Amino acid sequence: MKISDILASDRFSLSFEVFPPKRDGNIDNLYKTIEELETAHPDFISVTYGAGGGTRDTTVEIASKIKNVLGVETLAHLTCVQATSADIADILEEFKRNNLENILALRGDPPANTGTFIKTSGGFGFANELVNFIRSQGDFCIGVAGYPEVHIEAPSAEADMENLKRKVDAGGEFIITQVFFENDAFYRFRDRALKVGINVPVIPGIFPIFNTKQIPKITELSNSKIPSSLLDKLEKASDWPEEAEKYGVEFAVRQAADLVRNDAVGLHFCSMNRSSHVLKILSEMELPRRHPARQQNG
Ligand code: FAD
Repeated sequence: MKISDILASDRFSLSFEVFPPKRDGNIDNLYKTIEELETAHPDFISVTYGAGGGTRDTTVEIASKIKNVLGVETLAHLTCVQATSADIADILEEFKRNNLENILALRGDPPANTGTFIKTSGGFGFANELVNFIRSQGDFCIGVAGYPEVHIEAPSAEADMENLKRKVDAGGEFIITQVFFENDAFYRFRDRALKVGINVPVIPGIFPIFNTKQIPKITELSNSKIPSSLLDKLEKASDWPEEAEKYGVEFAVRQAADLVRNDAVGLHFCSMNRSSHVLKILSEMELPRRHPARQQNG
């Protein structure tokens, strides 16, 4: 089922993100996690696409198993990193063969330690070009990424929003946001998007945070600010993992409940390939079955 159809109904959407394990990682553990996550009845599970295209085959394999074996809708991420348009066309054919119809179209992060994205000759420099190309290759439902706290390379919030509009105008049918911890940033972003005429659903990305070790990586990649109240608690509990987890769950429950109260169309949790945190959060809050019917992107 196309995610655009799920979102077009008034059903409140719940989704999770998983990533392919490293080459020597244990894929069976991931499938076990996915089966546990399934007990929360997600509308879809997204599968990331590794920097440098290194996880291309496993992204397809995992997304295909989630959809065709486990029977849960999937969203396969796809990036422009180190790929020509012919490479992308091949991948899209693989998606079609595997019945994968939902794609999150991304430019991609630069490969590790390189710091700068370099367009591959014969490839794409920005996600809107990828969206255009995917459109020309078949009947896919395409999502794009949005940045409540502004993409790290964007010269200004306005320029970043213009880019988001370009991606939606090219055929992006929904937006999943970069993770954030201060909901006001999301609400402002959603309002700004509406003002420039972006009318597709915006799904907030949530990252349950449980220890201070996760912070440098999250903030470096996402540009997200972590509220000092959470930071202080995590730091004080750094020698007591169970306490730190408790604060992380409490924070995420409050954050998610506030998003629900403020008319979010759904919640997209980064699971970090673990089910326990996300399931605990969900067990401590009530998800609505429906979101309020709106003619806008909320
Ligand atoms: P773009 O929309 O192309 O934007 C990149 C930058 O260029 C922005 O600063 C934008 O403002 C600017 N820009 C865009 N168009 C123009 C233009 N025409 N002229 C000038 N500037 C322009 N990365 C992965 O490698 N694999 C994943 O699976 C993955 N999943 C993600 C999932 C989500 C929900 C999110 C939010 C991010 C994900 N990322 C992933 C990270 C993403 O690839 C990076 O944030 C990347 O740096 C930007 O990707 P984008 O698609 O937003 O790029």
